[in-house]
Amino acid sequence: MDYHRQTSLKDHNSFKTEALAKIFCQPKSVEELRKSLAGHRDEKKLIVGEGCNIFFTKDFDGLVIHPAIKGLREISDEDEEDEDIFIEVNASENWDEFVAYCVERGFAGLENLSLIPGTVGAAPVQNIGAYGAEVKDVIHEVVAIDMENGEGVSFSNTECEFGYRDSIFKRTGRYCIISVVFHLKRTFIYTPKYFDLNKELEDMENPTIQDVRNAVIRVRQRKLPDEKVLPNAGSFFKNPYITQEQADRIKIDYPELPAFLQKTGLVKTSAAFLIDKAGYKGARTGDIGTYPTQPLIIVNYGARDGNEIVRFMKEIQRTVKDTFNIELEPEVRIF
Ligand SMILES: Cc1cc2nc3c(=O)[nH]c(=O)nc-3n(C[C@H](O)[C@H](O)[C@H](O)COP(=O)(O)OP(=O)(O)OC[C@H]3O[C@@H](n4cnc5c(N)ncnc54)[C@H](O)[C@@H]3O)c2cc1C
Repeated sequence: MDYHRQTSLKDHNSFKTEALAKIFCQPKSVEELRKSLAGHRDEKKLIVGEGCNIFFTKDFDGLVIHPAIKGLREISDEDEEDEDIFIEVNASENWDEFVAYCVERGFAGLENLSLIPGTVGAAPVQNIGAYGAEVKDVIHEVVAIDMENGEGVSFSNTECEFGYRDSIFKRTGRYCIISVVFHLKRTFIYTPKYFDLNKELEDMENPTIQDVRNAVIRVRQRKLPDEKVLPNAGSFFKNPYITQEQADRIKIDYPELPAFLQKTGLVKTSAAFLIDKAGYKGARTGDIGTYPTQPLIIVNYGARDGNEIVRFMKEIQRTVKDTFNIELEPEVRIF
């Protein structure tokens, strides 16, 4: 395996920010991955998939690993009667190609997560979610290499400590995920979970799994910018959780505030709404702005320096804090 020095990371982050990796490698097998870890024990390490949830503000002074470990296998026996199906997918498979593979075969559980850019290996990291679904609901096991000692380790669903756009992998940055085992179902019944999607499907009596995937794709293509055309990393901030008291206070001035009471007693509200009301819908400072139809998405009109994105992010955070007394936390990883 080749090691490249001072390698540009511009094509390894969907925001297209410019930074150099001191060392860069692309292991094609677990063996190669282990070797790269053993040979660079004292270097800082960062795993990069397709770079759709990450950007850089400075050079990375260490080893950037861009795994190229592909492959997929259905673990369940050939018994078509069996309702449950388990599939192990290697980390570098493209997420949406895997979703399409499952939908074509009628394996249910991933259809709402259609068209999310990135790799299978990154999906558990921030517990990707969309249209009322989260990947944690279909993850059986995550197989990884502990980058501190090169040992293999597998995590049950509970051990992944999944939360809202969160997991043990995101919090520690210690594990390189090499495969994910999904637990899917052979029977599909559409369960309405999300307003936009229900609306898209309202004329269909019994939508098939393929109908749902197609509807998700249509809605996403209408609403979200294509990162290959207009660099971005999807939703920039997490939706905040606030107290009922806080929600009631904000509702005096903004009665239409989206507010979803959680089991914890906290209220989940919409970061997009807060950013919009703070005056940042379609705003632009220099080369950085928010997407005109979706203020939660920060877009890059041409900046090479990730610090410009951070400055704009802070401007939004400050204004939302001053207006609503709510701290917005970025969902995107900043390095
Ligand atoms: C237009 C657009 C729309 C999006 N929509 C959604 C959405 O609806 N829902 C959603 O949840 N996200 C969404 N995202 C965010 C992004 O697609 C996901 O977070 C995706 O999982 C990132 O995959 P990636 O391979 O590009 O990961 P990267 O950006 O390369 O990495 C993300 C994080 O995961 C870590 N990582 C990557 N691979 C591994 C691995 N093998 N082992 C350990 N750690 C790893 C990285 O170190 C980094 O911390 C969107 C992004 C864009 C650009």
